[in-house]
Amino acid sequence: MSDIQMLIGGEQRFASNGATFERRNPLDHSVATRAPAATPDDARAAVDAAAKAFPAWAAMGPGERRGLLMKAAHALEAKGAAFAAAMASEVGASGIWAGFNVHLAADMLLEAASITTQISGEVIPSNVPGSLAMAVRQPAGVVLGIAPWNAPVILGVRAIATPLACGNTVVLKGSELSPATHGLIIEALQEAGLPAGVVNFVTNAPADAGAVVEAMVAHPAVRRVNFTGSTKVGRIIAQTCAKYLKPAVLELGGKAPMLVLDDADLDAAVAGAAFGAFANSGQICMSTERLIVDQKIADDFVAKLAAKAQSLPLGDPRNGPVVLGSVVDMATVERCNALIDDALAKGATLVCGGKADNTLMPATLLDHVTPEMAIYREESFAPVKAIVRVNGVEEAVACANDNEFGLSSAVFGRDVARAWQVAARIESGICHVNGPTVHDEAQMPFGGVKNSGYGRFGGKAGIEAFTELRWITVQTAPRHYPF
Ligand code: NAD
Repeated sequence: MSDIQMLIGGEQRFASNGATFERRNPLDHSVATRAPAATPDDARAAVDAAAKAFPAWAAMGPGERRGLLMKAAHALEAKGAAFAAAMASEVGASGIWAGFNVHLAADMLLEAASITTQISGEVIPSNVPGSLAMAVRQPAGVVLGIAPWNAPVILGVRAIATPLACGNTVVLKGSELSPATHGLIIEALQEAGLPAGVVNFVTNAPADAGAVVEAMVAHPAVRRVNFTGSTKVGRIIAQTCAKYLKPAVLELGGKAPMLVLDDADLDAAVAGAAFGAFANSGQICMSTERLIVDQKIADDFVAKLAAKAQSLPLGDPRNGPVVLGSVVDMATVERCNALIDDALAKGATLVCGGKADNTLMPATLLDHVTPEMAIYREESFAPVKAIVRVNGVEEAVACANDNEFGLSSAVFGRDVARAWQVAARIESGICHVNGPTVHDEAQMPFGGVKNSGYGRFGGKAGIEAFTELRWITVQTAPRHYPF
Protein backbone atom coordinates (compact mmCIF):
# COMPACT_ATOMS: atom_id res chain seq x y z
CA MET A 1 0.00 0.00 0.00
CA SER A 2 1.38 3.46 -0.79
CA ASP A 3 0.56 6.57 1.17
CA ILE A 4 1.09 9.55 -1.07
CA GLN A 5 1.05 13.33 -0.74
CA MET A 6 0.32 16.23 -3.03
CA LEU A 7 3.00 18.70 -4.17
CA ILE A 8 2.33 22.41 -3.80
CA GLY A 9 5.06 25.01 -4.27
CA GLY A 10 7.78 22.35 -3.98
CA GLU A 11 6.43 20.98 -0.67
CA GLN A 12 4.79 17.64 0.02
CA ARG A 13 1.32 18.32 1.39
CA PHE A 14 -1.59 16.51 2.98
CA ALA A 15 -5.06 18.01 2.52
CA SER A 16 -5.46 21.04 4.80
CA ASN A 17 -8.28 19.29 6.68
CA GLY A 18 -6.39 15.97 6.83
CA ALA A 19 -8.97 14.18 4.66
CA THR A 20 -7.87 11.20 2.56
CA PHE A 21 -9.40 8.74 0.12
CA GLU A 22 -8.45 5.20 -0.84
CA ARG A 23 -7.93 3.46 -4.15
CA ARG A 24 -8.47 -0.29 -3.93
CA ASN A 25 -7.10 -3.00 -6.21
CA PRO A 26 -9.84 -4.09 -8.63
CA LEU A 27 -9.17 -7.83 -8.08
CA ASP A 28 -8.74 -8.37 -4.35
CA HIS A 29 -10.01 -5.00 -3.08
CA SER A 30 -6.91 -4.49 -0.92
CA VAL A 31 -6.05 -0.83 -0.39
CA ALA A 32 -3.60 0.09 -3.16
CA THR A 33 -3.13 3.77 -2.28
CA ARG A 34 -4.20 6.29 0.34
CA ALA A 35 -4.06 9.86 -1.01
CA PRO A 36 -4.99 13.35 0.19
CA ALA A 37 -8.54 14.50 -0.57
CA ALA A 38 -7.85 18.12 -1.53
CA THR A 39 -10.29 20.88 -0.66
CA PRO A 40 -11.03 23.66 -3.16
CA ASP A 41 -8.74 25.89 -1.06
CA ASP A 42 -5.89 23.37 -1.42
CA ALA A 43 -6.48 23.37 -5.18
CA ARG A 44 -6.38 27.19 -5.28
CA ALA A 45 -3.13 27.08 -3.27
CA ALA A 46 -1.62 24.85 -5.95
CA VAL A 47 -2.56 27.40 -8.64
CA ASP A 48 -1.16 30.22 -6.47
CA ALA A 49 2.14 28.32 -6.22
CA ALA A 50 2.23 27.79 -9.98
CA ALA A 51 1.45 31.48 -10.57
CA LYS A 52 4.32 32.50 -8.27
CA ALA A 53 6.77 30.26 -10.12
CA PHE A 54 5.58 31.39 -13.58
CA PRO A 55 7.63 34.56 -14.23
CA ALA A 56 11.01 32.92 -13.57
CA TRP A 57 10.15 29.73 -15.49
CA ALA A 58 8.78 31.72 -18.44
CA ALA A 59 11.95 33.84 -18.50
CA MET A 60 14.32 30.85 -18.31
CA GLY A 61 16.27 30.28 -21.54
CA PRO A 62 15.05 27.39 -23.69
CA GLY A 63 18.34 25.50 -23.36
CA GLU A 64 18.03 25.35 -19.59
CA ARG A 65 14.38 24.22 -19.76
CA ARG A 66 15.42 21.63 -22.34
CA GLY A 67 18.09 20.24 -19.99
CA LEU A 68 15.62 19.88 -17.13
CA LEU A 69 13.02 18.14 -19.30
CA MET A 70 15.65 15.73 -20.60
CA LYS A 71 16.67 14.91 -17.03
CA ALA A 72 12.99 14.38 -16.21
CA ALA A 73 12.68 11.89 -19.10
CA HIS A 74 15.58 9.86 -17.74
CA ALA A 75 14.29 10.05 -14.14
CA LEU A 76 10.91 8.79 -15.35
CA GLU A 77 12.42 5.91 -17.31
CA ALA A 78 14.44 4.88 -14.25
CA LYS A 79 11.19 4.36 -12.34
CA GLY A 80 9.92 1.68 -14.73
CA ALA A 81 9.59 -1.01 -12.05
CA ALA A 82 7.81 1.33 -9.61
CA PHE A 83 5.36 2.40 -12.33
CA ALA A 84 4.63 -1.24 -13.23
CA ALA A 85 3.95 -2.11 -9.58
CA ALA A 86 1.74 0.97 -9.06
CA MET A 87 -0.27 0.33 -12.24
CA ALA A 88 -0.79 -3.37 -11.43
CA SER A 89 -1.91 -2.48 -7.95
CA GLU A 90 -4.12 0.54 -8.73
CA VAL A 91 -5.72 -0.37 -12.05
CA GLY A 92 -4.77 -4.02 -12.71
CA ALA A 93 -2.69 -3.17 -15.78
CA SER A 94 -0.30 -5.66 -17.41
CA GLY A 95 3.47 -5.23 -17.35
CA ILE A 96 3.52 -4.78 -21.14
CA TRP A 97 1.13 -1.84 -20.87
CA ALA A 98 3.07 -0.28 -17.99
CA GLY A 99 6.34 -0.63 -19.93
CA PHE A 100 4.82 0.99 -23.02
CA ASN A 101 3.41 3.80 -20.85
CA VAL A 102 6.78 4.62 -19.32
CA HIS A 103 8.59 4.42 -22.66
CA LEU A 104 6.16 6.71 -24.51
CA ALA A 105 5.86 9.12 -21.58
CA ALA A 106 9.66 9.45 -21.41
CA ASP A 107 9.64 10.11 -25.16
CA MET A 108 7.01 12.81 -24.66
CA LEU A 109 9.35 14.55 -22.19
CA LEU A 110 12.24 14.28 -24.68
CA GLU A 111 10.03 15.66 -27.45
CA ALA A 112 8.96 18.49 -25.13
CA ALA A 113 12.65 19.17 -24.43
CA SER A 114 13.32 19.37 -28.17
CA ILE A 115 10.54 21.86 -28.87
CA THR A 116 11.82 24.41 -26.35
CA THR A 117 14.02 25.85 -29.12
CA GLN A 118 11.38 25.51 -31.83
CA ILE A 119 8.75 27.93 -30.51
CA SER A 120 9.06 30.38 -33.35
CA GLY A 121 7.05 33.33 -34.59
CA GLU A 122 6.95 35.27 -37.86
CA VAL A 123 7.56 38.71 -39.29
CA ILE A 124 4.49 40.00 -41.16
CA PRO A 125 4.64 42.78 -43.77
CA SER A 126 2.93 45.88 -42.34
CA ASN A 127 1.13 48.58 -44.34
CA VAL A 128 2.55 51.20 -41.97
CA PRO A 129 5.92 52.51 -43.24
CA GLY A 130 8.71 51.56 -40.83
CA SER A 131 6.57 49.23 -38.73
CA LEU A 132 8.30 45.95 -37.94
CA ALA A 133 5.37 43.66 -37.19
CA MET A 134 5.79 40.27 -35.57
CA ALA A 135 3.63 37.39 -34.42
CA VAL A 136 5.28 36.15 -31.24
CA ARG A 137 4.47 33.05 -29.22
CA GLN A 138 4.71 33.54 -25.47
CA PRO A 139 3.93 31.29 -22.50
CA ALA A 140 0.24 31.52 -21.55
CA GLY A 141 0.48 31.26 -17.75
CA VAL A 142 -0.67 28.46 -15.45
CA VAL A 143 -1.93 25.35 -17.26
CA LEU A 144 -4.29 22.94 -15.50
CA GLY A 145 -3.97 19.33 -16.71
CA ILE A 146 -6.56 16.69 -15.80
CA ALA A 147 -5.64 13.09 -16.62
CA PRO A 148 -7.39 9.71 -16.43
CA TRP A 149 -6.23 6.32 -15.14
CA ASN A 150 -6.21 4.14 -18.25
CA ALA A 151 -2.85 5.17 -19.72
CA PRO A 152 -1.81 6.97 -16.55
CA VAL A 153 1.86 7.66 -17.27
CA ILE A 154 1.36 8.71 -20.90
CA LEU A 155 -1.67 10.90 -20.23
CA GLY A 156 -0.36 12.40 -16.98
CA VAL A 157 2.87 13.40 -18.74
CA ARG A 158 1.02 14.55 -21.88
CA ALA A 159 -1.08 16.91 -19.75
CA ILE A 160 2.00 18.83 -18.60
CA ALA A 161 5.05 18.19 -20.83
CA THR A 162 4.36 20.51 -23.78
CA PRO A 163 2.86 23.18 -21.49
CA LEU A 164 6.12 23.15 -19.46
CA ALA A 165 8.27 23.24 -22.60
CA CYS A 166 6.39 26.35 -23.73
CA GLY A 167 7.29 28.14 -20.48
CA ASN A 168 4.05 27.63 -18.58
CA THR A 169 3.85 26.35 -15.02
CA VAL A 170 1.38 23.56 -14.32
CA VAL A 171 -0.98 21.87 -11.91
CA LEU A 172 -1.67 18.19 -12.57
CA LYS A 173 -4.93 16.90 -11.14
CA GLY A 174 -4.40 13.18 -10.74
CA SER A 175 -7.04 10.51 -11.29
CA GLU A 176 -8.81 9.15 -8.22
CA LEU A 177 -8.17 5.68 -9.67
CA SER A 178 -4.40 6.03 -10.12
CA PRO A 179 -3.10 8.64 -7.64
CA ALA A 180 0.18 6.84 -6.80
CA THR A 181 0.98 6.28 -10.49
CA HIS A 182 0.42 9.96 -11.21
CA GLY A 183 2.44 10.81 -8.08
CA LEU A 184 5.46 8.94 -9.50
CA ILE A 185 5.47 11.28 -12.52
CA ILE A 186 5.68 14.22 -10.15
CA GLU A 187 8.52 12.54 -8.23
CA ALA A 188 10.48 12.12 -11.47
CA LEU A 189 10.05 15.80 -12.35
CA GLN A 190 11.17 16.81 -8.86
CA GLU A 191 14.23 14.58 -9.07
CA ALA A 192 15.13 16.28 -12.34
CA GLY A 193 15.38 19.55 -10.41
CA LEU A 194 12.50 21.62 -11.74
CA PRO A 195 12.21 24.76 -9.57
CA ALA A 196 9.63 24.75 -6.75
CA GLY A 197 6.12 25.59 -7.95
CA VAL A 198 6.76 24.86 -11.63
CA VAL A 199 4.93 21.53 -11.28
CA ASN A 200 2.19 21.07 -8.69
CA PHE A 201 0.09 17.99 -7.97
CA VAL A 202 -3.41 17.77 -6.54
CA THR A 203 -5.39 14.64 -5.65
CA ASN A 204 -9.07 14.58 -4.72
CA ALA A 205 -11.76 12.22 -3.48
CA PRO A 206 -14.14 11.23 -6.33
CA ALA A 207 -17.08 13.16 -4.86
CA ASP A 208 -15.03 16.39 -4.74
CA ALA A 209 -13.83 16.36 -8.38
CA GLY A 210 -16.35 18.95 -9.60
CA ALA A 211 -15.64 21.47 -6.83
CA VAL A 212 -11.86 21.02 -6.95
CA VAL A 213 -11.73 21.39 -10.74
CA GLU A 214 -14.02 24.43 -10.80
CA ALA A 215 -11.95 26.15 -8.08
CA MET A 216 -8.90 25.86 -10.34
CA VAL A 217 -10.58 26.71 -13.65
CA ALA A 218 -12.07 29.83 -12.01
CA HIS A 219 -8.68 30.97 -10.68
CA PRO A 220 -7.58 34.01 -12.75
CA ALA A 221 -4.00 32.70 -13.07
CA VAL A 222 -5.16 29.56 -14.94
CA ARG A 223 -4.95 30.42 -18.64
CA ARG A 224 -5.31 27.01 -20.30
CA VAL A 225 -7.06 23.77 -19.34
CA ASN A 226 -6.53 20.35 -20.81
CA PHE A 227 -8.67 17.34 -20.03
CA THR A 228 -8.40 13.70 -21.07
CA GLY A 229 -11.28 11.48 -20.03
CA SER A 230 -14.85 10.59 -20.81
CA THR A 231 -17.14 12.61 -23.06
CA LYS A 232 -19.60 12.90 -20.15
CA VAL A 233 -17.09 14.69 -17.91
CA GLY A 234 -15.58 16.49 -20.92
CA ARG A 235 -18.90 18.28 -21.45
CA ILE A 236 -18.87 19.42 -17.79
CA ILE A 237 -15.29 20.68 -18.17
CA ALA A 238 -16.22 22.49 -21.43
CA GLN A 239 -19.13 24.20 -19.68
CA THR A 240 -16.99 25.21 -16.70
CA CYS A 241 -14.29 26.53 -19.05
CA ALA A 242 -16.91 28.47 -21.03
CA LYS A 243 -18.21 30.05 -17.83
CA TYR A 244 -14.75 31.42 -17.02
CA LEU A 245 -13.67 31.90 -20.69
CA LYS A 246 -10.75 29.50 -20.40
CA PRO A 247 -9.53 27.80 -23.61
CA ALA A 248 -9.50 24.02 -23.33
CA VAL A 249 -8.07 21.01 -25.14
CA LEU A 250 -10.50 18.11 -24.70
CA GLU A 251 -9.44 14.53 -25.50
CA LEU A 252 -12.54 12.41 -24.91
CA GLY A 253 -14.06 9.01 -25.66
CA GLY A 254 -13.81 6.95 -28.82
CA LYS A 255 -15.38 4.06 -30.72
CA ALA A 256 -12.60 3.49 -33.24
CA PRO A 257 -13.58 1.60 -36.39
CA MET A 258 -11.14 -0.66 -38.20
CA LEU A 259 -12.22 -1.28 -41.80
CA VAL A 260 -11.09 -4.54 -43.37
CA LEU A 261 -11.63 -4.16 -47.13
CA ASP A 262 -12.06 -7.13 -49.47
CA ASP A 263 -8.43 -6.98 -50.67
CA ALA A 264 -6.84 -6.74 -47.20
CA ASP A 265 -3.83 -8.82 -46.23
CA LEU A 266 -5.76 -10.88 -43.66
CA ASP A 267 -2.76 -11.84 -41.52
CA ALA A 268 -1.72 -8.19 -41.23
CA ALA A 269 -5.31 -7.18 -40.49
CA VAL A 270 -5.69 -9.86 -37.80
CA ALA A 271 -2.43 -8.81 -36.11
CA GLY A 272 -3.52 -5.14 -36.18
CA ALA A 273 -7.01 -5.97 -34.95
CA ALA A 274 -5.83 -8.13 -32.05
CA PHE A 275 -3.40 -5.46 -30.89
CA GLY A 276 -5.84 -2.58 -31.40
CA ALA A 277 -8.74 -4.36 -29.73
CA PHE A 278 -7.09 -6.10 -26.79
CA ALA A 279 -4.04 -4.04 -25.71
CA ASN A 280 -4.69 -2.95 -22.10
CA SER A 281 -7.86 -5.07 -22.23
CA GLY A 282 -9.42 -2.60 -24.66
CA GLN A 283 -9.21 0.29 -22.20
CA ILE A 284 -7.53 2.79 -24.54
CA CYS A 285 -9.28 5.76 -26.13
CA MET A 286 -7.97 4.57 -29.54
CA SER A 287 -8.94 0.91 -28.92
CA THR A 288 -10.48 -0.83 -31.93
CA GLU A 289 -14.13 -0.96 -30.90
CA ARG A 290 -15.76 -1.82 -34.23
CA LEU A 291 -14.37 -4.28 -36.77
CA ILE A 292 -16.10 -3.35 -40.02
CA VAL A 293 -15.38 -6.27 -42.32
CA ASP A 294 -16.25 -6.84 -45.97
CA GLN A 295 -18.62 -9.80 -46.25
CA LYS A 296 -16.37 -11.40 -48.92
CA ILE A 297 -13.52 -12.08 -46.50
CA ALA A 298 -15.38 -11.94 -43.18
CA ASP A 299 -15.50 -15.70 -42.45
CA ASP A 300 -11.73 -16.08 -42.87
CA PHE A 301 -10.95 -12.91 -40.95
CA VAL A 302 -13.20 -13.79 -38.01
CA ALA A 303 -11.82 -17.34 -37.74
CA LYS A 304 -8.22 -16.10 -37.70
CA LEU A 305 -8.93 -13.29 -35.24
CA ALA A 306 -10.81 -15.62 -32.89
CA ALA A 307 -7.84 -18.02 -32.83
CA LYS A 308 -5.52 -15.14 -31.96
CA ALA A 309 -7.89 -13.71 -29.33
CA GLN A 310 -8.23 -17.08 -27.60
CA SER A 311 -4.45 -17.40 -27.36
CA LEU A 312 -3.95 -14.19 -25.36
CA PRO A 313 -2.85 -14.90 -21.76
CA LEU A 314 -5.18 -13.49 -19.07
CA GLY A 315 -4.43 -13.11 -15.35
CA ASP A 316 -3.51 -11.01 -12.33
CA PRO A 317 -0.52 -8.94 -13.53
CA ARG A 318 0.95 -9.02 -10.02
CA ASN A 319 1.65 -12.74 -10.52
CA GLY A 320 3.56 -12.57 -13.81
CA PRO A 321 3.41 -11.46 -17.45
CA VAL A 322 0.00 -11.43 -19.16
CA VAL A 323 -1.53 -9.65 -22.17
CA LEU A 324 -4.96 -9.18 -20.60
CA GLY A 325 -4.77 -8.01 -16.99
CA SER A 326 -7.66 -6.93 -14.81
CA VAL A 327 -10.11 -4.32 -16.06
CA VAL A 328 -10.46 -1.30 -13.84
CA ASP A 329 -13.63 -2.19 -11.91
CA MET A 330 -16.75 -4.38 -11.65
CA ALA A 331 -18.84 -1.61 -13.24
CA THR A 332 -16.93 -2.30 -16.48
CA VAL A 333 -17.71 -6.03 -16.19
CA GLU A 334 -21.40 -5.37 -15.55
CA ARG A 335 -21.63 -2.87 -18.42
CA CYS A 336 -20.05 -5.40 -20.81
CA ASN A 337 -22.19 -8.32 -19.60
CA ALA A 338 -25.25 -6.20 -20.40
CA LEU A 339 -23.81 -5.31 -23.85
CA ILE A 340 -23.25 -9.03 -24.56
CA ASP A 341 -26.78 -10.00 -23.41
CA ASP A 342 -28.31 -7.22 -25.50
CA ALA A 343 -26.36 -8.16 -28.64
CA LEU A 344 -27.11 -11.89 -28.34
CA ALA A 345 -30.81 -11.21 -27.73
CA LYS A 346 -30.89 -9.17 -30.96
CA GLY A 347 -29.20 -11.80 -33.13
CA ALA A 348 -25.42 -11.41 -32.73
CA THR A 349 -23.24 -14.51 -32.38
CA LEU A 350 -20.60 -14.99 -29.70
CA VAL A 351 -17.36 -15.98 -31.45
CA CYS A 352 -15.10 -16.25 -28.40
CA GLY A 353 -14.90 -15.12 -24.76
CA GLY A 354 -18.14 -14.11 -23.11
CA LYS A 355 -19.53 -12.74 -19.89
CA ALA A 356 -17.29 -12.49 -16.80
CA ASP A 357 -17.99 -12.64 -13.07
CA ASN A 358 -14.82 -10.86 -11.97
CA THR A 359 -12.51 -8.22 -13.43
CA LEU A 360 -10.43 -10.78 -15.38
CA MET A 361 -12.36 -10.41 -18.64
CA PRO A 362 -11.52 -12.66 -21.60
CA ALA A 363 -11.01 -11.36 -25.14
CA THR A 364 -14.58 -11.39 -26.50
CA LEU A 365 -15.81 -11.04 -30.09
CA LEU A 366 -19.44 -10.58 -31.15
CA ASP A 367 -20.15 -11.18 -34.85
CA HIS A 368 -23.12 -10.03 -36.98
CA VAL A 369 -23.56 -6.86 -34.88
CA THR A 370 -26.25 -4.50 -36.22
CA PRO A 371 -27.23 -0.87 -35.48
CA GLU A 372 -30.05 -1.98 -33.14
CA MET A 373 -27.52 -3.37 -30.66
CA ALA A 374 -26.05 -1.09 -27.97
CA ILE A 375 -22.49 -2.34 -28.63
CA TYR A 376 -22.74 -0.97 -32.20
CA ARG A 377 -22.67 2.59 -30.78
CA GLU A 378 -21.47 2.60 -27.16
CA GLU A 379 -17.86 2.59 -26.03
CA SER A 380 -17.23 -0.78 -24.31
CA PHE A 381 -13.83 0.38 -22.99
CA ALA A 382 -13.09 -3.30 -22.31
CA PRO A 383 -12.04 -6.43 -24.29
CA VAL A 384 -15.53 -6.91 -25.78
CA LYS A 385 -15.58 -6.06 -29.47
CA ALA A 386 -18.18 -5.82 -32.22
CA ILE A 387 -17.79 -7.21 -35.74
CA VAL A 388 -20.07 -5.60 -38.34
CA ARG A 389 -20.24 -7.21 -41.79
CA VAL A 390 -20.66 -4.89 -44.79
CA ASN A 391 -20.91 -5.14 -48.57
CA GLY A 392 -18.32 -2.97 -50.32
CA VAL A 393 -16.53 0.28 -49.62
CA GLU A 394 -19.57 2.59 -49.55
CA GLU A 395 -21.23 0.58 -46.79
CA ALA A 396 -17.96 0.35 -44.89
CA VAL A 397 -17.49 4.15 -44.91
CA ALA A 398 -21.13 4.80 -43.98
CA CYS A 399 -20.85 2.37 -41.07
CA ALA A 400 -17.56 3.91 -39.87
CA ASN A 401 -19.17 7.36 -39.79
CA ASP A 402 -22.40 6.18 -38.17
CA ASN A 403 -21.17 7.08 -34.69
CA GLU A 404 -21.01 10.06 -32.35
CA PHE A 405 -17.24 9.65 -31.77
CA GLY A 406 -14.30 10.41 -34.07
CA LEU A 407 -10.90 9.85 -32.47
CA SER A 408 -8.92 7.08 -34.21
CA SER A 409 -9.64 4.71 -37.11
CA ALA A 410 -7.88 2.27 -39.44
CA VAL A 411 -8.31 0.87 -42.96
CA PHE A 412 -6.74 -2.37 -44.18
CA GLY A 413 -6.51 -2.95 -47.95
CA ARG A 414 -3.77 -3.92 -50.45
CA ASP A 415 -4.85 -1.26 -52.96
CA VAL A 416 -3.31 1.58 -50.99
CA ALA A 417 -4.76 4.28 -53.26
CA ARG A 418 -8.28 2.98 -52.58
CA ALA A 419 -7.54 2.62 -48.85
CA TRP A 420 -6.27 6.21 -48.81
CA GLN A 421 -9.50 7.40 -50.46
CA VAL A 422 -11.46 5.57 -47.77
CA ALA A 423 -9.25 7.04 -45.01
CA ALA A 424 -9.91 10.54 -46.34
CA ARG A 425 -13.68 10.02 -45.93
CA ILE A 426 -13.64 8.76 -42.33
CA GLU A 427 -14.75 11.33 -39.78
CA SER A 428 -11.93 10.99 -37.24
CA GLY A 429 -8.92 12.97 -36.04
CA ILE A 430 -6.57 10.04 -36.69
CA CYS A 431 -6.56 7.30 -39.36
CA HIS A 432 -3.96 4.62 -40.11
CA VAL A 433 -3.85 2.77 -43.43
CA ASN A 434 -2.62 -0.80 -42.86
CA GLY A 435 -1.80 0.00 -39.22
CA PRO A 436 -3.71 -0.45 -35.95
CA THR A 437 -6.08 2.15 -34.45
CA VAL A 438 -3.85 2.20 -31.34
CA HIS A 439 -0.77 4.24 -32.26
CA ASP A 440 0.65 7.26 -30.47
CA GLU A 441 3.89 9.17 -30.90
CA ALA A 442 4.93 12.29 -29.03
CA GLN A 443 5.51 14.42 -32.14
CA MET A 444 2.21 13.67 -33.89
CA PRO A 445 -0.93 15.84 -33.79
CA PHE A 446 -3.25 13.84 -31.53
CA GLY A 447 -6.93 14.55 -31.09
CA GLY A 448 -10.46 13.87 -32.22
CA VAL A 449 -13.52 15.30 -33.93
CA LYS A 450 -17.25 15.06 -33.13
CA ASN A 451 -17.85 13.87 -29.55
CA SER A 452 -14.22 12.83 -29.15
CA GLY A 453 -13.38 16.44 -28.31
CA TYR A 454 -11.36 19.32 -29.74
CA GLY A 455 -7.84 20.65 -29.78
CA ARG A 456 -4.61 18.75 -30.39
CA PHE A 457 -1.69 17.57 -28.28
CA GLY A 458 1.68 16.71 -29.80
CA GLY A 459 4.40 18.41 -31.81
CA LYS A 460 3.68 21.82 -33.33
CA ALA A 461 -0.05 21.50 -32.59
CA GLY A 462 0.82 21.37 -28.88
CA ILE A 463 2.82 24.59 -29.14
CA GLU A 464 -0.21 26.33 -30.62
CA ALA A 465 -2.45 25.02 -27.83
CA PHE A 466 -0.23 26.11 -24.96
CA THR A 467 1.17 29.49 -26.02
CA GLU A 468 -0.34 32.91 -26.52
CA LEU A 469 0.16 34.25 -30.08
CA ARG A 470 0.78 37.98 -29.76
CA TRP A 471 1.09 40.75 -32.36
CA ILE A 472 3.97 43.02 -31.46
CA THR A 473 5.22 45.93 -33.56
CA VAL A 474 8.26 48.18 -33.37
CA GLN A 475 7.96 51.58 -35.13
CA THR A 476 11.37 52.14 -36.75
CA ALA A 477 10.65 55.36 -38.71
CA PRO A 478 8.64 58.51 -37.95
CA ARG A 479 4.96 57.60 -37.84
CA HIS A 480 2.40 59.56 -39.83
CA TYR A 481 -0.81 60.42 -37.93
CA PRO A 482 -3.98 61.92 -39.52
CA PHE A 483 -4.25 64.70 -36.92
P1 NAD B 1 -13.57 10.28 -16.44
O1 NAD B 1 -14.10 11.31 -17.35
O2 NAD B 1 -14.54 9.55 -15.59
O3 NAD B 1 -12.51 10.91 -15.44
C1 NAD B 1 -11.44 11.74 -15.86
C2 NAD B 1 -11.20 12.83 -14.85
O4 NAD B 1 -12.38 13.60 -14.72
C3 NAD B 1 -10.82 12.39 -13.45
O5 NAD B 1 -9.61 13.04 -13.11
C4 NAD B 1 -11.95 12.91 -12.59
O6 NAD B 1 -11.49 13.40 -11.36
C5 NAD B 1 -12.50 14.04 -13.39
N1 NAD B 1 -13.90 14.32 -13.06
C6 NAD B 1 -14.88 13.44 -12.78
N2 NAD B 1 -16.04 14.09 -12.53
C7 NAD B 1 -15.78 15.41 -12.67
C8 NAD B 1 -16.58 16.59 -12.57
N3 NAD B 1 -17.88 16.54 -12.27
N4 NAD B 1 -15.99 17.77 -12.81
C9 NAD B 1 -14.69 17.83 -13.12
N5 NAD B 1 -13.88 16.76 -13.22
C10 NAD B 1 -14.42 15.56 -13.00
O7 NAD B 1 -12.75 9.31 -17.38
P2 NAD B 1 -12.07 7.95 -17.01
O8 NAD B 1 -13.11 6.92 -16.73
O9 NAD B 1 -11.02 8.17 -15.98
O10 NAD B 1 -11.34 7.59 -18.40
C11 NAD B 1 -11.95 6.84 -19.39
C12 NAD B 1 -12.47 7.70 -20.53
O11 NAD B 1 -11.44 8.54 -21.01
C13 NAD B 1 -12.92 6.89 -21.74
O12 NAD B 1 -14.11 7.43 -22.25
C14 NAD B 1 -11.79 7.10 -22.74
O13 NAD B 1 -12.14 6.94 -24.09
C15 NAD B 1 -11.35 8.48 -22.43
N6 NAD B 1 -9.97 8.70 -22.85
C16 NAD B 1 -9.71 9.56 -23.87
C17 NAD B 1 -8.39 9.75 -24.31
C18 NAD B 1 -8.06 10.67 -25.46
O14 NAD B 1 -6.89 10.99 -25.63
N7 NAD B 1 -9.02 11.10 -26.26
C19 NAD B 1 -7.36 9.05 -23.68
C20 NAD B 1 -7.67 8.19 -22.64
C21 NAD B 1 -8.98 8.04 -22.22
